[in-house]
Amino acid sequence: MVASGFTDTHRLFLQAAMSRRIMTEVVALDIYARVCQATNDRFDREQFSDFVDQLNTGLNSVELEFRKAQDEVTGTPVIALTNTNGQKIAQVATGYTPTELEYFKHLLDAIVMADDETYCISATAALHEAGHLKNKENKVLVLTKRDAEALLDRFVADKWFIKSAAGAYSLSMRSLLELQTYLKETYGEQIQECTLCMEIITKGQRCSVAACSSRLHQHCASTYFRNMNNPVCPTCHSAWSGKVLIGLSDKMSAPSKVQRRARRTANGAAAIAGDNEDEDIERDEE
Ligand SMILES: [Zn+2]
Ligand SMILES: [Zn+2]
Repeated sequence: MVASGFTDTHRLFLQAAMSRRIMTEVVALDIYARVCQATNDRFDREQFSDFVDQLNTGLNSVELEFRKAQDEVTGTPVIALTNTNGQKIAQVATGYTPTELEYFKHLLDAIVMADDETYCISATAALHEAGHLKNKENKVLVLTKRDAEALLDRFVADKWFIKSAAGAYSLSMRSLLELQTYLKETYGEQIQECTLCMEIITKGQRCSVAACSSRLHQHCASTYFRNMNNPVCPTCHSAWSGKVLIGLSDKMSAPSKVQRRARRTANGAAAIAGDNEDEDIERDEE
């Protein structure tokens, strides 16, 4: 998969990025600097963006792409090497057996469908999912508790999920970037976007008006409200408390199978009607 037009600098950087998959922009720049040094190329941080564009042009034919984003929680700029043909999990999360991928899908389901927009599940709920695996032919797939525990660790080590200090599993930046297409196509409206940056949001703030769709990343909110004495919602203009949160790791829940089935329509898109009773309940910050 050597793309034409790549120099040794491109190749060395790509190699380093492939083993990491996702890194902060600071780390990426550092690697770029060291690679330039090794190949006697001139290092200019102003040129990094162009360098990434060149890589993306070369990677286009093999359906890979460097994507930039800001970490959902910290706002730190990150860059990830992603698969652009991400409709199916198997195309993205390679290196797992079919049973392991099925477990991965169940975990995604439970996290995305978690009640009250918590977008996380407890370790107990995660292990519980391992007992309900079936393949397309409805044949039961066996995954022991011990195997499931080891696999959960591997998913975290491979940067697909984040494990909080309280032991809750949530989506990582790698998942959000690489599984973007899959998540949107599978879960429809259940996958929400930040009102300001339009990227997927699973951790941040929400409008206290239940019917309002405004969701903001913490870092997007602080930038947007910086010069506002009385912050108001960018969508409905009601007062913005900043205290109604989504993606809480201390609120661990997973919907029952029945709820989940009801919310997923036949074509895989999500219908969230009748699921908003508790939306205006304020939650304390972690
Ligand atoms: Zn945002
Ligand atoms: Zn609003």
